[in-house]
Amino acid sequence: MPELPEVETVCRGLAKALTGAWIESVEQHRGDLRAAFPKNLPARLKGRRVEKIERRAKYILITLDMSKTLLLHLGMSGRILLADNDREPPGKHDHLVFHFRNGITLRFNDPRRFGMCDLAATHDLPRYKLLHGLGIEPFSPQLTSTFLAAKFKGKKTSVKAALLDQRIIAGIGNIYASEALFHAGISPRRKAGKCTKAQIAKLVPAIRKVLKAAIAAGGSSLRDYRQANGELGYFQNRFAVYDRAGKACPGCRCDIKKTGGIRQVAQAGRSSFFCPRKQD
Ligand SMILES: [Zn+2]
Repeated sequence: MPELPEVETVCRGLAKALTGAWIESVEQHRGDLRAAFPKNLPARLKGRRVEKIERRAKYILITLDMSKTLLLHLGMSGRILLADNDREPPGKHDHLVFHFRNGITLRFNDPRRFGMCDLAATHDLPRYKLLHGLGIEPFSPQLTSTFLAAKFKGKKTSVKAALLDQRIIAGIGNIYASEALFHAGISPRRKAGKCTKAQIAKLVPAIRKVLKAAIAAGGSSLRDYRQANGELGYFQNRFAVYDRAGKACPGCRCDIKKTGGIRQVAQAGRSSFFCPRKQD
């Protein structure tokens, strides 16, 4: 599933290729994904100009002229493919295909169909149903240890669940919650309300550090979209604990025969990975 760094990488790739581009035509090959597509979408997008492309949480916001914003979400398996002079017929899961006047084609491909596409009035975005309840961005200056301490105060849920709560910080998913807690030395099972001041002070830079490193890895993976198969946003990443159950912890270089290495536990049906020696 694409997480924030992948979506940020997609946005940067799209912005590079499409800022200022005009939409020539849009092919729509089904009526819905997670939700119905807006009515008459191809007709409403034809002739519009892309003014700006940015990310909010895991939404891709494409600001168009005439005060409209196209919202895309990649869901579980969504992919965006860019190509120049693309004459291939639409693939099975290419639900939307955008043709731009600059010769670029954008395919929104989503085999599992949990993605979404909607069109909203730009000035209404702060009140848009899927955005208005979202918490702050991890890179926003609003994210401070004081802010997080206030949000965690008295919370009986785990700190892992609190990090995944999109109403507090928007865009942290399962992978980067585990990674950030490792770097902060906090057990994912600790109650949010029981985190010490010192732990929370470490957590804020840890969140930014893991996301920043992943975004940097994504940026270096961005190929020129003129090359074949210009898929944006998926890249190899190295994790300290995520998906490394039983392997040696990079923090304490323990003997895994004695310690069992990194541990995996289920929390609310999702896996958390941590080092019991380094995180408490
Ligand atoms: Zn360790």
